[in-house]
Amino acid sequence: MTAYRFTGGLMVDPFLNVMERTDLQVRDGVVVSRQPGTAPEEIVRIDGCWVVPRITDLHVHFRDPGQTWKEDWVSGVRAAAAGGVTTVGVMPNTVPVVDSPAAVSDQIARAGGRVRVWPIGALSRGSRGREAAPWAAMQAAGARAFSDDGRALYDPALMAAALSWSRHSGLPVIQHLEDPILAAGGVVHAGEPARRLGLPGQPAASESVLAFRDVALAAEYGGRLHLAHCSVPGTLQALGWARGQGLPVTGEATPHHCLASDEWLLRFGDDAVTKVNPPLRPQAAQEAVRAALVSGLLTVFASDHAPHSAAEKAAPYVAAPFGISGIETLIGAVLTLLWRDARLSPLKALAPVTVGPHQVVGEAFSGLVGGAPADLTVIDPNAAWTVDPARFYSQGRNTPLAGLRLQGRVVATMVGGRFTFRDGEVLV
Ligand SMILES: [Zn+2]
Repeated sequence: MTAYRFTGGLMVDPFLNVMERTDLQVRDGVVVSRQPGTAPEEIVRIDGCWVVPRITDLHVHFRDPGQTWKEDWVSGVRAAAAGGVTTVGVMPNTVPVVDSPAAVSDQIARAGGRVRVWPIGALSRGSRGREAAPWAAMQAAGARAFSDDGRALYDPALMAAALSWSRHSGLPVIQHLEDPILAAGGVVHAGEPARRLGLPGQPAASESVLAFRDVALAAEYGGRLHLAHCSVPGTLQALGWARGQGLPVTGEATPHHCLASDEWLLRFGDDAVTKVNPPLRPQAAQEAVRAALVSGLLTVFASDHAPHSAAEKAAPYVAAPFGISGIETLIGAVLTLLWRDARLSPLKALAPVTVGPHQVVGEAFSGLVGGAPADLTVIDPNAAWTVDPARFYSQGRNTPLAGLRLQGRVVATMVGGRFTFRDGEVLV
């Protein structure tokens, strides 16, 4: 394997909480502690850029097996590489659902080492919400978290059991907050734009009632609880309460809930490009989610990358599937929101895509020290770019962020010492 020396850039390491202008050497897949290099190495000039370890998207849907016309592990890995993502948390709602140890192993095999993968196993068999999946066996096979994402785990007794088991296993329960009765039939947020367009809405409470319920269950039964794609102020209040109690409850924000509101429905009209679950919320909710990310109440920024084919998204609004393709806009979005706009330091701005997701799954990562896996992303923070879905490597080209200017461009991505993206080209 080639040896590299990255030179001229700034190491931005949220794991060590260190920013340093220094060369970084990589050999045999790992970071080499600084020493006069004797072995031949390739010099990689990265003037003006940052090098960031272990950028992670905790919430993606790669659709493989079963719906590979939407995405498969090849296109998903290529999209991750172009997006500067070196680790992905993959949701289990494939066809069939990842609800067995064999299915977990299959996800790891499909990733093929070209991206680091944290398989998320289903909480319930078939994600039907009735009986527990074989959690311990799936953990032994490599599952790093459990979720029925795509729908909520609604049965409170099963949720209590999952949290009790989480206390022993150390693996988090990731909840998709959506009360299926309150939200039934809703395709957008129940607000003024929905009324004007005559579209059935989901109230904010269909999310927050489950957030309040689940933090109460976490207080009673213990365990680690992670609230996926928080999008309304009530959910943030439930999370804040849990934090105040010292509970290991965490929460996540998505790019689209931070950058768009339900007023975008009026702009896009019938186009299901805005259709996503949870739905785009009113501007006040959007601002609350952004503020919670800035304050550190929300410690994870994840794309909820949910690709669909263009034909599927072209269906009438009510019939079209929920989902936005987001893995290739993750880094631009987080730097735009937290570094450019909120003026956080690079370390703080990148924490929700590095340290935050690692804390959720309880994975220790050393940062850029000798022997650490060389999972690196080179970012030009000063480059702004325009989102153009036609250039996505993902098969899903659906995003309402098309045309938006984002700050911070991915220059190169390396997984385990191998470039997966470099000079505008995907190498996997
Ligand atoms: Zn979800």
